[in-house]
Amino acid sequence: MGRARVCVLGSANMDLVVFAERVPELGETVAGRRFVTVPGGKGANQAIAAARAGADVAMVGSVGDDPYGRELRAVLDDAGVDTRALAEGAETTGTAHILVEDGGDNSIVVVPGANGTVHGLAAGLDEALNGAQLLLLQLELPLDAVVAGAKAARERGVKVVLTPAPARPLPADLLTCVDLLVPNESEARVLSGKDDAESAAQALAEVVPEVVVTLGAEGARWLRRDGAGEHVPSPSVRVRDTTAAGDTFVGTLAVALGEGRPMEQALRWATAAAALSVGQEGASTSMPTRARIEDFGA
Ligand code: ADP
Repeated sequence: MGRARVCVLGSANMDLVVFAERVPELGETVAGRRFVTVPGGKGANQAIAAARAGADVAMVGSVGDDPYGRELRAVLDDAGVDTRALAEGAETTGTAHILVEDGGDNSIVVVPGANGTVHGLAAGLDEALNGAQLLLLQLELPLDAVVAGAKAARERGVKVVLTPAPARPLPADLLTCVDLLVPNESEARVLSGKDDAESAAQALAEVVPEVVVTLGAEGARWLRRDGAGEHVPSPSVRVRDTTAAGDTFVGTLAVALGEGRPMEQALRWATAAAALSVGQEGASTSMPTRARIEDFGA
């Protein structure tokens, strides 16, 4: 089987994470315990996951002409991602300001920054789609750019995989271009209006040809419109950090599908890779390599 070629049109953010005893009240100041910066954004995470799982990956999006932007580009370059179509926008690099309380609850403010400057047919997307089998999309860029990207991929026969996060109503002209929808359980509920994962998967498979609902520690439920499908359990691991588990899942799934593997096998790879990432601290740094995914029994 040939090497997969995957294109990602999506966000790149620096996560600025503060750990504190509790979130301050309005007007209050509390002392933090620790501060870390973590490269993230769903687009960048999926690109890194796919590259580590062994695909040729091109990332299309925008960062700022600033230290966070340079760091994100370096992290993507290190993972082997082609960043020629990662523009340097007029705005500052997107940031997520995350406050984690003792006990793990968090509150987050996201500033889209340069991500918000990507509109219409993104510069460099046409070239990046050349020879790709799949385009990975999420909802952290302006919707008009996501729709234009999906249409461009559809015209070129490139399969469109959409992670509908953050969840929001999806316009018909986007849905008609989607080949595979990969929501987590709560996104599946919001999109379908159903209150359990199974009914949500059934409802969504009437709107798009194929859906995979990720179910955290329970694995994933795959359903194709023709009725094919299965529930793939997750390997059990000791949970250290679930950040970017969903992005690791999608990035790895795309690599297996791009290599022409059947969905059953792709799902085994994806659940293995996501479980490995959950068992390790960190987001992009916790994504497993091809060798580790195969060793894990996928
Ligand atoms: P998201 O991280 O996007 O909210 P999920 O929580 O559904 O999405 O996780 C995505 C995938 O990561 C799951 O389908 C599963 O394969 C894996 N995963 C998540 N949590 C665990 C866990 N506790 N143990 C093993 N695998 C997990």
